Amino acid sequence: MIKTCFDLYLIPYKMKSFLLKIFDNDYAERYYQSKKKLSDESIDWLRVIPFFTIHLIALTAIWIKFEWILFAAALGFFVLRMFAITGFYHRYFSHKTFKTSRFIQFLFAFIGATAAQRGPIWWASHHRRHHVNSDQENDHHSPHIHDFLWSHMGWFLAKKNFFTDRKFVKDLIKFKELVWIDRFDWLPPSILIMLLYFLGEYLSPVYQISGTSMVIWGFFISTVFVYHCTFAVNSIAHIWGKQRYETREQSKNNFLIALITFGEGWHNNHHHFPGSIRQGFYWWEIDFTYYCLKFLSLFGIVYNLRTVSKSLKQKHS
Ligand SMILES: [Zn+2]
Ligand SMILES: [Zn+2]
Repeated sequence: MIKTCFDLYLIPYKMKSFLLKIFDNDYAERYYQSKKKLSDESIDWLRVIPFFTIHLIALTAIWIKFEWILFAAALGFFVLRMFAITGFYHRYFSHKTFKTSRFIQFLFAFIGATAAQRGPIWWASHHRRHHVNSDQENDHHSPHIHDFLWSHMGWFLAKKNFFTDRKFVKDLIKFKELVWIDRFDWLPPSILIMLLYFLGEYLSPVYQISGTSMVIWGFFISTVFVYHCTFAVNSIAHIWGKQRYETREQSKNNFLIALITFGEGWHNNHHHFPGSIRQGFYWWEIDFTYYCLKFLSLFGIVYNLRTVSKSLKQKHS
């Protein structure tokens, strides 16, 4: 579709190729494959620019007059998208710890994609690889194999990690709508930015805000927080905390990370039994994602929740 638009407007070949590399992930994969970049560990600077731009734009909030409605928007979109990442990108798409309808699957795939962490298939593929190779050479974001910064926010900017290893996600690539989100993963964040802009303009007669200030707080600030909370599970939760189970890698249970990531900080529990919808194994291990999913199950929105058995909970190796 995009390729045809470029053909129609007679854009020069080099420019067309550059734009397609940005806007069509299928094209970008084919392009890099032809250039034999599949194992290239170097940073892809084309991907770094939007990632750092998001941080820079978030910083411009210091020039915006503070309004509680802007704070509420940032908090609301942080909570919604953090839940979409932990509850759906992680516990549903990556681990299938519960079931849901195709519509809800698409809805949360779309909401998750607005967090600008690529599509659900790419995310699940890399995460499943992490569980197979945890803290070993083929773990792309182990802080014990690579350095801390790489495990936190370097690995996904490497050329070789741009690709989706489809052998890990055969169950997901049969859903055309998910494949479409993965191919055009820039679209969901762009739609959210547009909606926030219109919301800000609509509310501007009542509050001292504008479309731009609503976008900066509702999208950019909350996205930066969702980023670093998510990344902290890969970096911090494999270094600091307690290891209840001998899981043959360095995953840790970390209360603080569990709080900010809605339960993902019980990472050693999670590596012990990744098939459990509940990552806080005991009542005092706060797991906000699990409480929300349990609540949704009351209405049949999600069902067949898989939990950890008592014997597995007590088996420490
Ligand atoms: Zn891990
Ligand atoms: Zn996992």
